[in-house]
Amino acid sequence: MTGKVWLVGSGPGGTGLLTLRAREVIDRAEVILYDQLPGEEILSTLPGHAELIDCGKYGGDHTLEQDEIEALMLDRALSGRRVVRLKGGDPFLFGRGGEEIDTLRANGVPCEVVPGVTSAIAVPAAVGIAVTHRKYASQVTVITGHEDPGKPESALEWEALAKLSGTLVILMGVKNLGKITEILTGYGKDRNTPVAIIERGLRADQRVTTGVLSDISEHAKKAGVRPPAIIVIGDVVRMYREDLPGLIPPEGENSSFLEISGRNKD
Ligand code: SAH
Repeated sequence: MTGKVWLVGSGPGGTGLLTLRAREVIDRAEVILYDQLPGEEILSTLPGHAELIDCGKYGGDHTLEQDEIEALMLDRALSGRRVVRLKGGDPFLFGRGGEEIDTLRANGVPCEVVPGVTSAIAVPAAVGIAVTHRKYASQVTVITGHEDPGKPESALEWEALAKLSGTLVILMGVKNLGKITEILTGYGKDRNTPVAIIERGLRADQRVTTGVLSDISEHAKKAGVRPPAIIVIGDVVRMYREDLPGLIPPEGENSSFLEISGRNKD
């Protein structure tokens, strides 16, 4: 008998933002193929009775390729097991979840998608930034910065992106940040547009670097910004306040202007 696959989003990290449905299917799974993005706080709660397969991208010999991951997932499901494919954030936002569903469908394997809280919205929220706000932005665009924007065959329409008003949220953009800011200003985007970079959002070691389009790349270099990080470009960044997040109030202090749930406080 064929098993079943649950394609599960873990949220941005921190067990508080894992959905109840995700917790339920994880706890009942016989096999879990997990990425590293969900983070230690969640990965340390995976049930010991399940076969745990690390699908993290490390570079080098220990990395499973996408087709190997899909082959393992199919193999376990076709041998009748309950399989969870666990991904960071939401499985359908830059998580290759779409491709995995295609493979399961093509092979007649039943599948359930368990959406997750996406980092694209939750991580800016963690530092007080609403990706839309009537005063600042009535639209938000989410893109991957993974591709070199200088490549002529870039799948992204950089000229159109530079002309858009509203908020631009960039995932996987740390490595190409310099090229991205250059191409946006080159196509006429205001060099003084505010930018915030949030590293490891909603995790204990979250860090924020701010600037404007023309200097953020320099600030990021100085600060040694590393992935995973969310880059937010637009006037909504004005909502960021260093003293505002109040996510982890200092010891013994529990009054804060704004609290964002989900991040564990101890
Ligand atoms: N499916 C995921 C995104 C996968 S792409 C989602 O919906 O969130 C991986 C990128 O997500 C990272 O490079 C980073 O840009 C972003 N990301 C995910 N979790 C993050 C976190 N906790 N803090 C900052 N960025 C995060």
